Amino acid sequence: MNGDEIFVTRSSMPPYEEYIEAIKPLWDSHWLTNMGRYHQELEDRLKEYLDVPELSLMVNGHMALEMAIQAMGLPKGGEVITTPFTFISTTHAIVRNGLKPVFCDVKPEDGTIDERKIEGLITEHTVAIVPVHVYGNVCNVEEIQRIADKYGLKVIYDAAHAFGESYEGKGIGNYGDASIFSFHATKVFNTIEGGAVAFSDPGFYERLFNLKNFGIRGEELVVSVGANGKMNEFCAIMGLCNLNHVEEAIAWRKALCEEYEGQLKGVPGIRLFENKPEVKRNYGYFPILVEDEYPLKRDELYEKLKGQGIYTRKYFYPLTSDQACFKNRYRGVRLECAREMAKRVLVLPVYEGLEMGKIERILKIVK
Ligand SMILES: *Cc1c(COP(=O)(O)O)cnc(C)c1O
Repeated sequence: MNGDEIFVTRSSMPPYEEYIEAIKPLWDSHWLTNMGRYHQELEDRLKEYLDVPELSLMVNGHMALEMAIQAMGLPKGGEVITTPFTFISTTHAIVRNGLKPVFCDVKPEDGTIDERKIEGLITEHTVAIVPVHVYGNVCNVEEIQRIADKYGLKVIYDAAHAFGESYEGKGIGNYGDASIFSFHATKVFNTIEGGAVAFSDPGFYERLFNLKNFGIRGEELVVSVGANGKMNEFCAIMGLCNLNHVEEAIAWRKALCEEYEGQLKGVPGIRLFENKPEVKRNYGYFPILVEDEYPLKRDELYEKLKGQGIYTRKYFYPLTSDQACFKNRYRGVRLECAREMAKRVLVLPVYEGLEMGKIERILKIVK
């Protein structure tokens, strides 16, 4: 690594002294995990920050999704309508629950599931919808809820990209039956590794608790079959410290994204996603779409930037439905728009601490 390289992301970290000071009490208590004091404190603070009624911390975002789906108690073999334009975790969580993903196309304007194509995929086997607020672009939550109510389906949002966002003034975790967040090191807010499930049914907390803690309810009592999905105290403290600074992190990202937006808007062949005015964004990602009018193909632009030490990412290519483990195994609509998007999308570097001068360097090459 020389000093000139620019990576697509970099983890936000609190000041060193702040974290070191915060973990000191652990050397007195020796209480390192198993729903300790800081686990509780982070749950309480996140409930408030995310503006959600209930929240359960998890060891990572993937287990949050897997266990949220499991806690719904859906019949094995049931079909789940979902998007292929996402991180592989979304599809894995469905399949690892013994459910069948049914892939729905996405919308060209923002990459979220195309709600107009959901009803056509519903059969007597459909049990749930798992949409993704991809890049923090918020799905059509009203229409998805209307469909779910009409057919009696559960809705579990993969909100891994949507930390701290709100829609029409309401925390994004308030939609559907549950929403999951990822606090992975590369996300807008991190606990090193971590995640959470947000929901409103208070009974759901206990079901998730049993799943994440082996079903243990007493020294000699195991009530159900569970796994280990607990967040440890070091991670919880990292979260508490990062939460103190998350607004600054988002503001930094906002300034970078606005610079990109302002300068790329008129560039022929570069298309940007639409942002709903009702959404308070977190500026987690800056995806662009490389259209035919652009002098280079997406892969050529990717290589050109890489040649200059700028590492962008082809998020999300290939579609999860096209990965070796899922290809041709599940039904779905012709994923025309999703396939087109996967071919054209490129995520540009955005992170807290990235200097504006580096953005200008990237912009000069792209333009
Ligand atoms: C990051 C991510 C996950 C998984 O979260 P981890 O914390 O890495 O386990 C799930 N879905 C999406 C869309 C993600 O980006």
